[in-house]
Amino acid sequence: QLADSLFIINNYAREYFADTLFNNEEGQNVGLSYFEERGFTAETIKKFQLGYCLNTFDAFAKSAIAKGYNLEYLQKTGLVTIRNDQPADNYRGRVIFPIHNQSGKILGFGARILVKSDRAPKYINSPENEIYVKSRVLYGTYFARHAIDKLNECLLVEGYTDVVSLHQAGVENVVASSGTSLTQDQLRLIKKYTNNLTILYDGDSAGVKAALRGLDMAIEEGLNVKLVLLPDKEDPDSYVQKLGAEAFRAFIQEHKQDFVLFKLQLTMQEAGNDSNKKSQLVNEIAETISKIDKAEDFTRQQDYIRQCSQLLHIDEQGLVALVNKYIR
Ligand code: ATP
Ligand code: MN
Ligand code: MN
Ligand code: MN
Repeated sequence: QLADSLFIINNYAREYFADTLFNNEEGQNVGLSYFEERGFTAETIKKFQLGYCLNTFDAFAKSAIAKGYNLEYLQKTGLVTIRNDQPADNYRGRVIFPIHNQSGKILGFGARILVKSDRAPKYINSPENEIYVKSRVLYGTYFARHAIDKLNECLLVEGYTDVVSLHQAGVENVVASSGTSLTQDQLRLIKKYTNNLTILYDGDSAGVKAALRGLDMAIEEGLNVKLVLLPDKEDPDSYVQKLGAEAFRAFIQEHKQDFVLFKLQLTMQEAGNDSNKKSQLVNEIAETISKIDKAEDFTRQQDYIRQCSQLLHIDEQGLVALVNKYIR
């Protein structure tokens, strides 16, 4: 009941912001120009149902209230807040990315500021409510599910604009974690469509750290995880716009690496000649390998044991024993 009301309000807002973007003067001059400068075509903008919220105190709130929508529910969606005792627009002066569930209904929104500022966050996202639970949502699943199914691979990126740009370049099997670290529920969502996950995180160290945190969990879910490191300062959106669709796809194919082996090489570098750190990392990698379900994927576990023991210059049977220690 409440959930239905929130969906109805979000759908109204989606239409309202899209209409503003295309048909209002400020919408066109500010919002649409912004998207055009970022290289998004009208077709792409329409497909993702992007919008713009006017830079006024309460244009949306007034319209929604006049339509008869309940103020309490409007606040629950995060579209409207109370400012100086008045209902006010929360996303004013921002471009709008609706967040769809798997059947295309609107769970919430991401709203991006147009000009970088120290005083305001770059993105404002909907608050959690009866329909929007961040840990269960991946941006873009509605648009990606058929391509993920067909290609038997899911690409994971960080941001809304990465998903939008990649689609425009013809790479459609892509979803975004929206800047948070991966959760078990999100991994299960991916697992519904494919076992093959390829992570394309921003080339900064924060991006890699965020990805590493999800690795053991992803392996436990039975996912086969690959990683593509982008050049420094690039994200999938900026890089695909720079290289063009074809060269970007070639880059992905060439730079796709196994994430377990990547983690091993990274931690080996960090450990250097420190023998304590080295034995700690052997234990860590054994634990990671132990999470691969043997019954489901026995050869994969054996392959990892062989490759890791070679990289680490340790005895293969020794690593087998250590891995088995971690399997209850
Ligand atoms: P853009 O290209 O528009 O700058 P981006 O997606 O590259 O956007 P990042 O800074 O790389 O932005 O952040 C990745 C994702 O993290 C965003 O798409 C957004 O979902 C989330 N995010 C970023 N900044 C914030 C913030 N201040 N509050 C909440 N979420 C944020
Ligand atoms: Mn980043
Ligand atoms: Mn970006
Ligand atoms: Mn980014």
